[in-house]
Amino acid sequence: MKRSKQAISLEFFPPRDIAAQEKLVRSAKQLLALQPEYVSVTFGAGGSTRSGTADTVQLLQNLGCSAAPHLSCIGASRAMLTDILDSYRAKGIRRIVALRGDMPSGMGGDAGELHHASDLVAFIREHSGDWFHIEVAAYPETHPQADGARSDLHHFVSKVKAGANSAITQYFFNPDAYFDFVDRARAAGVTVPIVPGIMPITNHTQLVRFSTMCGAEIPRWIRLRLADFGDDRASIRAFGTEIVGRMCQHLLDGGAPGLHFYTLNNAEATQGIWRQLRLA
Ligand code: FAD
Repeated sequence: MKRSKQAISLEFFPPRDIAAQEKLVRSAKQLLALQPEYVSVTFGAGGSTRSGTADTVQLLQNLGCSAAPHLSCIGASRAMLTDILDSYRAKGIRRIVALRGDMPSGMGGDAGELHHASDLVAFIREHSGDWFHIEVAAYPETHPQADGARSDLHHFVSKVKAGANSAITQYFFNPDAYFDFVDRARAAGVTVPIVPGIMPITNHTQLVRFSTMCGAEIPRWIRLRLADFGDDRASIRAFGTEIVGRMCQHLLDGGAPGLHFYTLNNAEATQGIWRQLRLA
C-alpha cells in the first residue's frame, strides 16, 4: 500500500461505562500502529450523548490521535450547534464529520432548525469559516430514505457545494457500487476525496441488523456463507477478514483515496484486515 497517498481513518463510538472505556483505550492504542490520519467519534448513534462524544474525543486526543467529532443537526437548534462548534474550536479541534443524523425511533418531536446535512455544512461554514475540515456522508448504495439514486446524488453534491472538504461512505460489500458512485459524483463536478467506509465482519446477527437499518446490501453469497457458520465466531471472523481485506485491496487498487474503518471499538477485526493488506 502507498501510505503517503492513501490515508487510514478509524471510527469509534463513546463508551457507555468504565469497562467499555478501558476496552476503547486498549483498542485505540493497538490501532495507533496503523498510523491513522485521524480518528472520529460518533454522535448520538445508539443513544450516546453530546458530552459522550466530546469526552471520547478528549480521551483519544490524550492518546496522541487527531480526533474528529461527528455532529448531527437533527433535533438541534442553531444556538445549540453554535455552542458545540465554539467549544470544539476552543479545544483546537480542526475536523468535524457533519451529518443530519436520525431521530431516535419511537420519538416524534422537533426535527430542529436544520433539516439536511447540507444545511449543517452551510451553517458551519457561515459560523466558523474555514476553521474546520468538514467530512460528510456518502451512500454508494443510496440512502434508505432517498427518493432515488439520482436525487440522493444530487443531495450529496449539495453538501459538497455547501463547503464539505471530503466524504466518507456508508459501508458496502459491493465495490462496484462504490466505483459507480464515484464516477457519477465526478461527472456531477465533485472533486473532493470520497473515502470508502469499511465494516469488518465479526458477528452475523449484528451485521444483518445494522445493514437492515442503514440500507447496506449483504450480497447473497456472503449471507449464505455466514449462515453456514452458525455460532462459529472464529470461522465468521476468518471469512470476514478475508473477504473484506480482499475488497479493501480492490478499492485501493481502483483508486480509493484511503479507507475509513468502522472499528466498533474493537481492534482485532480492523487489525486483521490491515495485516492482510500489508501482505498483499
Ligand atoms: P443527508 O445528507 O441530509 O441525507 C439524508 C436523506 O435526506 C437522504 O435520503 C437524502 O437524499 C435526503 N436529502 C438530503 N438533502 C435533501 C433536501 N435538500 N431535500 C430533500 N431531501 C434531502 N448517525 C448518527 O446518528 N451519528 C453518527 O455519528 C453517524 N455517523 C455517520 C458516519 C458516516 C460516515 C455515515 C455514512 C453515516 C453516519 N450516521 C450517523 C448515519 C446518518 O446520520 C444517517 O445515515 C442519516 O439518516 C443521514 O444523515 P446524512 O448526513 O447522510 O443526511
